[in-house]
Amino acid sequence: MLRVAAVAPESLGDQLGLKPGDELLAIGGRELVDFLDWEFLTADEAFVLHVRSATGEETEYDVERPEGLALGVVLEPPKVRRCNNRCDFCFVDGNPTKARKPLFIRDDDYRLSFRYGNFATLSNLKDKDVRRILEYRLSPLYVSVHATDPEVRRRVLRNPKAPEILPQLRMFAAAGIRFHTQVVLVPGLNDELVLERTLSDLYGLGAPVLSVSVVPVALTAYSKLALVRAPTAVEARRALATVRGWSARARDERGSGWVYGSDELYMRAGEPFPPAEAYDGFEQVENGVGAVRWLESLIAAEAHSLPDMTDRRVLVLTGTAMGPLMPEVLSALARATGGRFECAAVENTWFGASVTTAGLLAGADLGTALASRPDYDLALLPAEAVNDDGLFVDDVSLASLVAAAPVPVVLSYHFTDALGVEAAA
Ligand code: SF4
Repeated sequence: MLRVAAVAPESLGDQLGLKPGDELLAIGGRELVDFLDWEFLTADEAFVLHVRSATGEETEYDVERPEGLALGVVLEPPKVRRCNNRCDFCFVDGNPTKARKPLFIRDDDYRLSFRYGNFATLSNLKDKDVRRILEYRLSPLYVSVHATDPEVRRRVLRNPKAPEILPQLRMFAAAGIRFHTQVVLVPGLNDELVLERTLSDLYGLGAPVLSVSVVPVALTAYSKLALVRAPTAVEARRALATVRGWSARARDERGSGWVYGSDELYMRAGEPFPPAEAYDGFEQVENGVGAVRWLESLIAAEAHSLPDMTDRRVLVLTGTAMGPLMPEVLSALARATGGRFECAAVENTWFGASVTTAGLLAGADLGTALASRPDYDLALLPAEAVNDDGLFVDDVSLASLVAAAPVPVVLSYHFTDALGVEAAA
């Protein structure tokens, strides 16, 4: 059963009289389990929708959908599927105990993998899940492979019952499903020869494996540091050498690099990032793969449309990982706008200094960094550090941070978005 959260004015749902709180029971007699059923079963031009209103009254609507008219129904958020693994590097274990409850949910959900590109291990699939993936042809899926050797993978996931990943991928591939995959690199566990085998096996699956990212394990001050550690520079360089070998072969034989080291892997190795062309369209940029080159490309592409910011001083707050890389990016922005851009690399005291990404910065750390810098016309904060409820990871609200800040604050994913908005405001 699904419940309506909101209905857009003048949408088809509005015309039908659907209201927040209504329960969407079935379409064409088929029970609605989650948003996937809703999206796929309402794709037809005509269908019968069975609804129970908040007062308990049940109605069947014969829906004919005029072309181009949106249903306009927003569903209540789905209950996420829980994970049955216990990886030593799990982000949940990396939370301080005072973190808010939702951050302690271990989700492993093939539906969110399809819809939002969240990585899932597929280790908790039931037969009915497999049938749905096949029936709805959920593609591409984002899959955490980690290792194709079944025993190694079970050790990585700390799940002795985890099914073998290769037969799963083969079965879905035979039905036309494609995958973006990742390997979270844990030194001594799935690197070196294991990584070599994993890439060999995934390459052997052919076209269905669209891409592979190799990402070093990310740990906080609260992670199980007695059990897992980050790769050293030497280990990161070896992993990159393996990545480069397979990438060169893939480019030669298939026309794309196929396997990519994350930016963090390059930084750990102390090696420069490859040029933007090496990322083949930045398929896994959300996973930290090619993020810096993507940012540079975006600024270059949009430079002509950025506002004139002559004589304005802009402070860009980011994590410590990006700090050393920002001067180059910001000088491109300065050239394009005439403004003066300066970077503040903020240390993460919420998770510990080992966490260097901007998206995990706490509101308190950003607030402290802003408080000591009143001499700017504008400050850009990483938008990915704020959730849908306007909260940073430490429950500090964006509203309170903005109110206390000595300069105007704008959230930004990639600078060019915020500068456009700021100029229009
Ligand atoms: S798969 Fe591993 S990292 Fe992901 S939620 Fe489960 S235990 Fe945590």
